[in-house]
Amino acid sequence: MAVLYDRVALIGLGLIAGSMSLAMRRGGLAGDIVGYARSAESRATAREIGLCDSVAETMAEAVAGADLIVLCVPVGAMGAVAAEIGPHLKPGATVSDVGSVKREVIDAVAPHLPKGVHFVPAHPLAGTEHSGPTSGFAELFDDRYCIIVPEGAERAAVDRVLDLWRGMGARVEEMDAAHHDLVLAVTSHTPHLIAYTMVGVADDLGRVTDSEVIQFSAAGFRDFTRIAASDPTMWRDVFLHNKDATLEILGRFTEELFALQRAIRQGDGEMLHDYFTRTRAIRRGIIEAGQDTAAANFGRKPGTSS
Ligand code: NAP
Repeated sequence: MAVLYDRVALIGLGLIAGSMSLAMRRGGLAGDIVGYARSAESRATAREIGLCDSVAETMAEAVAGADLIVLCVPVGAMGAVAAEIGPHLKPGATVSDVGSVKREVIDAVAPHLPKGVHFVPAHPLAGTEHSGPTSGFAELFDDRYCIIVPEGAERAAVDRVLDLWRGMGARVEEMDAAHHDLVLAVTSHTPHLIAYTMVGVADDLGRVTDSEVIQFSAAGFRDFTRIAASDPTMWRDVFLHNKDATLEILGRFTEELFALQRAIRQGDGEMLHDYFTRTRAIRRGIIEAGQDTAAANFGRKPGTSS
């Protein structure tokens, strides 16, 4: 594939930025990739493993002359990062992000971008429970969706970002910010909260570290512990910044849970069987759509995605 951007700056060097750097290299999509991370430790690690072509000491240095700047920091840090890089952006450059929440990120970032800079928000639906500069891998986005939220950006700038994600192996879809946040509250954010809660409940019972529980834990609980190992800062920010949609879905979830609780109490087997039959059909649909690669291959396991 042809080079899409001569110079790309990745701000934040964790799982997503690292995977982007490796996937861009694999696809030959960027001329030069410069990275920046907040801590000297992450910058040193990124240099040591050659994650990017170079690692800058400041955000201003990283974005200077960049054609594409991708913000890969926790959702709650996006606004402050945008404020810091805003004055150093090249006219005509494109700024994008990978935040798991879109409405509040757009509202936090957009005011800091000078006129003549394009803003094309994005969110790859791919991740693992690992974080930091050594956690990325080139295949992370293969066959996973990346949602682009154009918000009125110039078509040519949007198309180039779409091409970038396609070049990194992803399928792309455009959506508006409110719809994105609601869909993700259903498919990712609330399920994460449930996993955190379930592991918390087991911990309250004093059983999580009990070797017997770990040894005999069925797939369900083991999966919950994996999801609940996801980065605390990232997930704190997701809930703080997708508050309304998460609360809406949690409300509906609680109602359903009460209905199932009542069915169990009343011994209503028919209700339980019908419910589980319906949910089983949803699972089959996900596999048919090719969105559970773990079910299709036993290679690198996709983990949590936000
Ligand atoms: P990560 O591995 O934890 O890396 C986060 C990076 O952001 C690190 O380089 C960290 O710097 C930096 N950072 C943290 N707080 C910061 C702050 N206040 N100011 C400036 N930099 C800061 O995270 P990630 O999983 O790549 O996630 C990055 C973004 O992608 C988040 O917005 C997340 O919502 C989104 N996302 C994540 C997933 C997922 O499953 N992980 C999936 C899709 C989208 P240090 O290394 O110096 O601490």
